[in-house]
Amino acid sequence: MTALDPGPPFPGTSRDPTVLLTPRSLDEALRLLAAEGAAVLGGGVGHTLRRHDRRRPGPAALVSVGSLPELRAISWSGQHVAIGAGVRLGTIEADERLARVWPIVTEAVGSVATDRVRRLVTLGGNIAAGDDGHDPPVALAAAGATLTVRSASSLRILRVGEANELGEDELIQDVRLLTPPDRTGSAYEKFLVRGVWEYACVNVGAVVRLDDAGAARRLSLAVGSVKGGPVTVDLTELRGDVVDSALIDEVARRAAAATRPYNDVKGSAEYKSRMIAEFSRRAMTRAARRAEEPPCGEGADP
Ligand SMILES: Cc1cc2nc3c(=O)[nH]c(=O)nc-3n(C[C@H](O)[C@H](O)[C@H](O)COP(=O)(O)OP(=O)(O)OC[C@H]3O[C@@H](n4cnc5c(N)ncnc54)[C@H](O)[C@@H]3O)c2cc1C
Repeated sequence: MTALDPGPPFPGTSRDPTVLLTPRSLDEALRLLAAEGAAVLGGGVGHTLRRHDRRRPGPAALVSVGSLPELRAISWSGQHVAIGAGVRLGTIEADERLARVWPIVTEAVGSVATDRVRRLVTLGGNIAAGDDGHDPPVALAAAGATLTVRSASSLRILRVGEANELGEDELIQDVRLLTPPDRTGSAYEKFLVRGVWEYACVNVGAVVRLDDAGAARRLSLAVGSVKGGPVTVDLTELRGDVVDSALIDEVARRAAAATRPYNDVKGSAEYKSRMIAEFSRRAMTRAARRAEEPPCGEGADP
């Protein structure tokens, strides 16, 4: 057990030290999390930023989960891949099998900040932060990923967009993605206003599955950096249509209509709506092209 120096308090306030706990197993971590004032520590990047805000009290105890063996693996079964919540984004980015099967995930994690930041940030920490501008949740929402969520007394499955429903005694154990059938393609687009690493102006993930005639059996699109994001755009009516430029234009129109961006330094809401349409078009086009490529030999049965 280590006590972290709370640093100087904001004038007129006091700050207690935070205790750092390093459990050896998932069960022990869940028991520690059940105590009042305890919070999960993943890579610690978000917590460190928060400690700079001297007005806000920190958690009484941080339960470190990023090194737990149960949370550190990327494991494949016949039907799905499970990515442990403690896996660093840099490790996910380097996973060659994931890049073949779900390139949307590789592209999204690889677009986060810099190598150095990606070596620290955990997938669970990135999702649990519940930030609509984060990249991996957008890709995972488009791919239909689910979260395995545990507490000392419960296990439940949430969608990625439901991460803000996590209880204080809960943690994300892993993120699961079904292995897609052949003729499925996916792509992630992150629009940076300055063209260098930063949070997205808009970010979009797309998944397309084609039948033998070139019609869409699956169309999924998720948009980030908007109110309530990541927002999954309803494209069910377009299923069965041939995936051509007219369909992709319609997807782009629906993406802009279904999302509510906000004004900030990266652009006005009106400008971002136009960028959402444009980057939805690009993500869908790349996903559709990938769906036409020869199968990588790792697809699930249709
Ligand atoms: C310079 C810089 C640039 C960045 N750029 C980007 C970017 O371009 N794109 C992007 O997506 N992000 C970006 N980030 C943000 C970064 O991804 C987040 O701060 C992320 O939340 C940090 O993850 P962590 O593992 O360090 O989490 P921590 O700081 O450990 O935790 C973050 C939050 O998640 C909770 N938590 C952690 N693990 C779990 C779990 N397994 N289950 C439940 N709750 C958990 C914690 O209690 C805390 O509330 C950037 C950060 C920095 C410093």
